[in-house]
Amino acid sequence: KAKEFGGDGYQFYSSELNHRAMERLTLETSLRRALERREFLLHYQPLLGIGSGRIVGVEALLRWDSPELGMVSPARFIPLAEETGLIVPIGEWVLRSACEQLRALHELGYTELCVSVNVSARQFRHDGFCAMVAAVLAAVGLDPRYLELELTESVIMERSETAKGILRKLKQMGVSLAIDDFGTGYSSLSYLKHFPIDRLKIDRTFVKEVTVDQDNAAIAEAIVALAHVLNLDVVAEGVETAEQLAFLAALRCDVVQGYHIARPLPPRNLLEFLEARQEDRAARPMLRSLQP
Ligand code: C2E
Ligand code: MG
Ligand code: MG
Ligand code: MG
Repeated sequence: KAKEFGGDGYQFYSSELNHRAMERLTLETSLRRALERREFLLHYQPLLGIGSGRIVGVEALLRWDSPELGMVSPARFIPLAEETGLIVPIGEWVLRSACEQLRALHELGYTELCVSVNVSARQFRHDGFCAMVAAVLAAVGLDPRYLELELTESVIMERSETAKGILRKLKQMGVSLAIDDFGTGYSSLSYLKHFPIDRLKIDRTFVKEVTVDQDNAAIAEAIVALAHVLNLDVVAEGVETAEQLAFLAALRCDVVQGYHIARPLPPRNLLEFLEARQEDRAARPMLRSLQP
C-alpha cells in the first residue's frame, strides 16, 4: 500500500501516525477548553412506559459543539475524556445540568419524570463520586428518587467489591441504578443478585433485529424473563419500528426508548414533544392557566 505513495513505506506510515497524533492532540486540546467555553449541551431522549403509555423519564445524552471540530459524537470524545480524566469535571457538569433541567420540567408540571445519566468507569471510581452526587442533588433541590444512574456491566464488575460499596451508598441515598447495554458484557450474572440494581437496559444490538432474527428475539425474551424473576425493570434501547415495539410489549418489557418514540432532543424540542403528547395535562395547573 505504501508503495503507491512514493515507495518510502516508513515515511508514509510515520506521517500517517503523525497525522493521527496531531488529530488526537487537537481533539484533546479542544476538549480541555470545552467546559469553560460552554461548548457542551445535553439532549434528552424520552422513555415510554409500555403499561401506562406515558413518558416516564428521559435519558440525558451529552453533545459537544466545538467551534473547531463541529459536532463531535460522544463515541469519539467520551473515551478520550476517560483517558485524560476530563470525564470527572465533565461528568459533574452533565449531572448538575441534567438535574437542573429536570427540576425545571417538574416545575412546569411534568412532576413524574425521571432523568437517567450515564456514568463512565473513571467517574464512578473517582474518590468522592457519591459525595459529588449528593452535593449536586442537594444544591439543585431534586429528590434523589428522580435520578437514575446508568452503569455498564464492566464498570461494576471491575473491582466488584469496591463497586458494590459505592452502589450501596448510592442506593441508600435513594438514587436508582440501571445496567446500560445489558447483554454485551461477558460477566457472570450472579452480580445481579448481590448488587442493588433497579433495572436493565437491553442493548440496542439485540433489539435491532428482534422481529427478524430468532436468536435476538430469544435473547430479548430471556433478558426480560430474567429481569422479572429478579424483580428488576427492563428497558429496551434502540426501538426503531412499530413492530419492534409490539414485540417487546408482548414480552412484557416495561419501558422502551428509541427513534420510534423520539430521537434525543434539545430541551426546547423535548418540551414541545411533551406538550404534544399532553402528558399530565390535568396535573399542570401552571401551564393550563396560561392557556385561553
Ligand atoms: P447509551 O447510553 O447506550 O445511549 C444510547 C445511544 O443510542 C445514544 O447514542 C442514542 O442517541 C442512541 N440511540 C437511541 N435510540 C436509538 C435508535 O432507535 N437507533 C439507533 N441507531 N440509536 C439510538 P449517543 O447519544 O451517540 O451516545 C453514545 C454513547 O455515549 C451512550 O450510549 C453513552 O454510553 C455515551 N454517553 C452519552 N452521553 C454521556 C454522558 O453524559 N456521560 C458518559 N459517561 N457517557 C455518555
Ligand atoms: Mg445510556
Ligand atoms: Mg445503552
Ligand atoms: Mg452505553
